[in-house]
Amino acid sequence: MYEVYCKECNIDLTFKNIKRLADLDGERIGLFCSGCFPKAEKILKERRFVEEYKGIPIYLKDNKFGFWGATYYFSNLDDARVRVDNRHIAFIDTGALKFMVNHLR
Ligand SMILES: [Zn+2]
Repeated sequence: MYEVYCKECNIDLTFKNIKRLADLDGERIGLFCSGCFPKAEKILKERRFVEEYKGIPIYLKDNKFGFWGATYYFSNLDDARVRVDNRHIAFIDTGALKFMVNHLR
């Protein structure tokens, strides 16, 4: 067992308060306590935010447009908008499923 600390406030992290922050493309940003996580995530999302299209926020990183928590990307904004327009169509993607499951919890 190794000790880990919150990247923001340096308190000890345990399985009860640990939160992992990942970037739009899944790149690991760091570990935060549950108290600091919402702020860290908000700052990161604000940095990646492009626009809200029909109520769905679209983010951008390294020329990849995508939705937070999803593992598929689009090379341009129009393709991401088309995806929003067609969200009623089943889209088989394990990342998207994980994203939905996380939001239902
Ligand atoms: Zn903290």
